[in-house]
Amino acid sequence: MDPLNPIIDERGGQSRSTRRNALKLGLISSVASLPLGNAVAAPLGLSSIQTEPDSPNESPAPFPFHGLLENEGRSYSNWGQSHATKPAVYVEPVSYEDVQEVARNASRFPSPVSPVGSMLSVSKTMINDGGTLLCTKRLDEIIGLEIDSSGRQIVRVQAGCRLKKLHLWLQARGLEIPFQAEIGEATVGSVAVGDTKDSSIDAAGFFSVNVTSLVFVDQNGERFSLSEANDPIKFYEFKCSYGLKGIVVECGIAVRQATLTESRFHVVTSRTPQEFAETILKLRSGADAFFANVLLDKLYAIGDQRFKLGPGASTPSSSQPLFDRVRLDKRVKIQHGGIPRSNTEELRLPFEKLIYSRADFVNEYWRPTDTENRLDFQFYEHDLTNFGMVLEQSYEFTKSFEDKHGFVPNLWALYFVKRPESKVKPYGLYSSGPGISFSFDPIYSNPNDPKWQLFAQSYNRLAIKKLNARPSPIQTQWLVPGDLVIPKQLSHPRFTTPYYAQFLG
Ligand SMILES: Cc1cc2nc3c(=O)[nH]c(=O)nc-3n(C[C@H](O)[C@H](O)[C@H](O)COP(=O)(O)OP(=O)(O)OC[C@H]3O[C@@H](n4cnc5c(N)ncnc54)[C@H](O)[C@@H]3O)c2cc1C
Repeated sequence: MDPLNPIIDERGGQSRSTRRNALKLGLISSVASLPLGNAVAAPLGLSSIQTEPDSPNESPAPFPFHGLLENEGRSYSNWGQSHATKPAVYVEPVSYEDVQEVARNASRFPSPVSPVGSMLSVSKTMINDGGTLLCTKRLDEIIGLEIDSSGRQIVRVQAGCRLKKLHLWLQARGLEIPFQAEIGEATVGSVAVGDTKDSSIDAAGFFSVNVTSLVFVDQNGERFSLSEANDPIKFYEFKCSYGLKGIVVECGIAVRQATLTESRFHVVTSRTPQEFAETILKLRSGADAFFANVLLDKLYAIGDQRFKLGPGASTPSSSQPLFDRVRLDKRVKIQHGGIPRSNTEELRLPFEKLIYSRADFVNEYWRPTDTENRLDFQFYEHDLTNFGMVLEQSYEFTKSFEDKHGFVPNLWALYFVKRPESKVKPYGLYSSGPGISFSFDPIYSNPNDPKWQLFAQSYNRLAIKKLNARPSPIQTQWLVPGDLVIPKQLSHPRFTTPYYAQFLG
């Protein structure tokens, strides 16, 4: 990447000599610099203060790393306990300067340096044996609201902030972000440069589209700011980079007034996959947004037609206690990955309509053990024009797999996402220009079950090679080189793990 403007000490990142002089003058109270946006570290007009030149025998000490550091050979696993990695060093930075020191100091923090947040992801994206695994969980402040140069209201937040925390903070202020998928623990930094899906109302349906600015640390430990306003091309590219070009430490995200949603639920049953697909498409076109849980082998679905209601930040009391019962029931089902060999009775909902705040549906999930049922899934993006074909061929594939192996996935999740112009999303998922995408994702309850793994690997071949699906390196497992290409210019060797290297092209 061409040099961008390094962030110069606007809100807390001082040069070492300035900081030392400030310490001498008692303007800041601690050696550890605080992150951007942290009020204590504001330089208080330091530029106008006359300071002594550095004395020659007082050369600056290297910035000490203040965060958690573990280099005794521990192993770290993802949420689903399906992948584990043994980095040479694992760090949890407590300041942006910590992140900069990690990126800069290759002898202490061996390459590749790869960022993670909550380590929820189902793929091998977090595998970094022998490198440096940098977890952003201690950089999780919500810095505040601001208005950007286009007049939009923006929430500024650190990369390790979990989505549920952000939703709650915004709800308390009558605001929301349009992406309101049920996952509360994903971190802002991960979803700002990674892949997501949500049947959102009045919005595209993937998180990064609403990110309007980023602060990141590059391979030299420099901090840069990128935004739609200062360098749109580089900014849009960076949002497709999965952390391979730098570590996100802060994001600006567009917010809007919070609104309530009405969901109308429908049971869809059909005798043929063609009829099934047509009924679902009809339901979708009659709503502001549409989501479905599908038992594909039984041609049975619960469709959720979502309609935008008026302003409102929390679920009205008239919807209680039903709403909370539904929320808790869904949370347990998602946690456990649905019900193995589900039958249609278990999916049936005892109501038809619900008015609620979608932010209230965002859940926290406990970290399961490797003997518990827990969610695992595969993610495929398709163009809406292929909907009938994808449903028919996936149905045929599932039935034939069931005949041979006595296995079917518990459920399929069906999301619809509006695609923006391709200049806004130049690479990867949703990058083919304005239109509608859908994702049709099989779900199971044990990531280590050999039959599920065989199903997922075989279905990859059908979905990616024959049905032209786009997979995600974060949310699709068992990918092989050629299944997706990440342009080399979106990466730097300092941040590129062997997992990602196989997809560069
Ligand atoms: C129970 C459950 C439910 C889910 N539901 C949904 C859903 O409804 N919709 C949906 O879209 N997804 C869903 N997901 C997937 C999840 O949202 C994504 O995998 C998300 O990326 C996880 O966030 P994380 O913080 O755990 O990322 P991690 O798994 O920790 O990291 C994933 C990758 O993100 C990148 N990354 C992380 N932090 C940074 C950073 N600071 N800078 C640059 N790159 C970074 C790296 O490439 C890293 O390998 C679900 C997952 C689970 C387990």
